Order: sequence, then structure tokens, then C-alpha cells
Amino acid sequence: MTLVKSRRRGVLNKTTRVMCSFLKRLPISSGRLQKKNHMHFTFTGTSNDPTYRTGTEVPVFVQTHRNVTICISLCKRIITPLISIQIYIRKIMANKDRNKTILLELGKLPDNNQCADCGAPDPDWASYKLGVFVCLNCSGVHRNLSNISRVKSIRLDFWDDELVEFMKTNGNATARAVYEKAVPAFYYRPQQEDCAVLREQWIRAKYERTEFTGETKYPPLAYTTGFYEGMLWKKGKEKGQFQRRKFVLSEKEFTLAYYNKEDPSKGPKALISIKDVNVTFQPEKIGHAHGLQMTYQEDSHTRSLYVYHESGEEIVNWFNAIRAARFAYLKTAYPTGSDKELMTRITRNYLKEGYMEKTGPMQKETFKKRWFILDSQDRKLLYFKSQLDAEELGVVFIGTETNGYSEREQREWVEALRQVISKPMQPQDYTTEANIRGKR
Ligand SMILES: [Zn+2]
Repeated sequence: MTLVKSRRRGVLNKTTRVMCSFLKRLPISSGRLQKKNHMHFTFTGTSNDPTYRTGTEVPVFVQTHRNVTICISLCKRIITPLISIQIYIRKIMANKDRNKTILLELGKLPDNNQCADCGAPDPDWASYKLGVFVCLNCSGVHRNLSNISRVKSIRLDFWDDELVEFMKTNGNATARAVYEKAVPAFYYRPQQEDCAVLREQWIRAKYERTEFTGETKYPPLAYTTGFYEGMLWKKGKEKGQFQRRKFVLSEKEFTLAYYNKEDPSKGPKALISIKDVNVTFQPEKIGHAHGLQMTYQEDSHTRSLYVYHESGEEIVNWFNAIRAARFAYLKTAYPTGSDKELMTRITRNYLKEGYMEKTGPMQKETFKKRWFILDSQDRKLLYFKSQLDAEELGVVFIGTETNGYSEREQREWVEALRQVISKPMQPQDYTTEANIRGKR
């Protein structure tokens, strides 16, 4: 005999109410509720009602909330001090509500109110193995690292007292002291808006590979050694197909070289000075989740290389190896600059990119669709025939006043331009300006 059907996805209040009202009708004298584990209970009771004969087992399942199921078996001359069941249900629900309140309060603490991994505000999830509060996006990465992390929603999931206690004694600051103890100054710490591969590899580097715990690694992490060598898929000039090319980064020489043939004796196809290099992830534009754009100066033009590697770890290592070399270069070029100042100049993302319609210098030519990139560091607005061109068609130096950017994204462009205009001119900006103006 089933009192209440098992409801795998029953509505909490409704199911509880149904069960309670049923039990209320039973002639209950006494009973005992036993906790079998944190989800299951067994009820054994007695009744004066002869209907309930010895040996009758009545299972009752109450789906209270997602993974919390109370299973009550009514055995023998049953039955049910309804009151005690209600107390138990109330107790569980009260614990659940109390734990949720505690977690929400913990999540508001200054150390926990930003995602431990990307800094997004008000994280809703937590890893109860690592003791960190994380955002929804980062929780997705943690979910794939089940050997080191387990996540639950702090709003929707059921939390045991022990887990809540664990979160209390840990938290983002405690985890940071362990897992981010020794992050190199040049290492890129992804933000909320950064691409997936950067965020995933940061999380894996921290918790899975424990790269920043301060222990000496052997062999040393490749991006810290000042030399990096490997194959990358590079977009070719013709047909835009990607080809495997050897790249060599040397911090000693401050160069990044790539070879057309695998035989290095034929010399590099390009020898790029670290002085002018920028690297930025461009997954959408390149059409690969690990797509990386490298730019450098060549004969007063900005050249772009578009590369990727199948391995997320490898491409992020390249990114950080180049950043390490850039940081070392900046330290020699600006010996008085603090680490904090230099860090902002290591690499940069473009303020804005996108298509705009552009006319020619006579203002009479027909408007053509061009890909524009706004680079705040150099105060440059570059435009390209198409978005994956190796070289720009033209460049506009952005002084302190501008107008004429119209069409679809005008407001965004103007806002982005305003950010550049509001920056005071640096000595190197005058050189950039003179070079661009002199070219015309
Ligand atoms: Zn996050």
C-alpha cells in the first residue's frame, strides 16, 4: 500500500502537505524516526488501529527539494506521530533555509563578493572542495575538474551543515593565499569579459596544475624560462588557410621569430622585436576558440599574425611567455617604472573593433565597408579591408578632438574614442603622431 506516490519532481509544499494531511487521518500512537543518511529517514511506529496489521509496510516518499528525499517506511502495527514527522520536515527545511542564509551572508563578505577566479560581482556558486565563491561561468569550468572541485549553487542547492561549516572556515581569501601565492607579475589574470580559454586555463593553472603555490617546479614552467619554442597554426597569406609554423621566442634577444620551413637553418621568415609586439586573444575574429592575434611594427605599418594551437594550455602558455618577454623588455626600457605601471603596458586588448563605412580622402568616393580597430595605447584608429588582413589600409592618429565617425555604432565608437582623448599625450605619442603624419 502506498500512501503517497513517489514524486521525483514533486513540488515541495504541495507534496509535504499531501503527506501530512494523509498522516493526520491515521490513528497514530507513537513512532520513531531514524536518520539513515543525510537524505533518507525511516519511520517505525505503532497504531491501535487493527487495519494496520503486523508486517504491513507503507513506504512514503517525499520529494522535498531537488536531491533531498525523505523516505519514511511505516512498519508493523504502525504508525505515526504526525507531529514528529512534521518536526523533522520543519527541521530539515529550517536547516536548509538557515544554511542558505548563512551562505548568502558569507557570499557578501568583501573577500567573497567577487568571483574567486574572474572577479565578477556577486558570485552565486561555490566550490565546496576548494572553499571558493565563483560566478556561473567559472562554475562551469570547475564542473569539469571533478577530481579537485565540486560546485553547488548557493541559492538553489541543498547544503549540509558540514559543507557550510567548510565554506565558513575557507573562502576566497584563504584559497588565494594558497593557490595564488606566487603568480608572476607578468601573468595575465583574466577578467569576467575575457575569452573562455583564458579563464579556463587560469582556473586549471591555479587549482589543477598548482602553478602558483610557490613550490619549485621541475622542470620549470616553460613560460618562465625566457625561451619558448613550438609549432603554431598560422594563417597564410593566400587563401587564408592555416599552416603549421615554428615560432621561437627569446627573452635574451628580445625577439620572436617564425619560420616558414621547419628547417631553421634557412632563417626565420620574420624576426619580430619584442619592443613592438602585442598579443590579444581574438577567438571570434579568427574563428577558433584559441585564436590569438600578434601585432608588430614593420616599416611604419602594423603587421598582424593570426595563430592558434589546438591545446588551450599551450596557446595560453605562448601568450604568457610573450608577456614575460615584454615585461622583461619594459623593465630594461623603463628601469624606473614600477611593476604596476609596467604591467598595464605588457599587452592590451583593443578598445573597440568592428565594421564601419568609410569614404575616401576627397569625401566624394563611395562609402566602403572597412574593419576598424581602435588601439588606445598608441592612440591609433587602424582600418583594414577585411578583419583578418595582415596589414592595415590606413591609420588615423587620434589627437585630442574628433568627429565624423558615424553610422551604426557611432555612439560606441565615440565613447571608446573619448577614453583615448581623455588621456594626456605621452612623449612617445608625439613620435607616433609625427610618423603617421609624415607618411601621408
Ligand atoms: Zn568567474
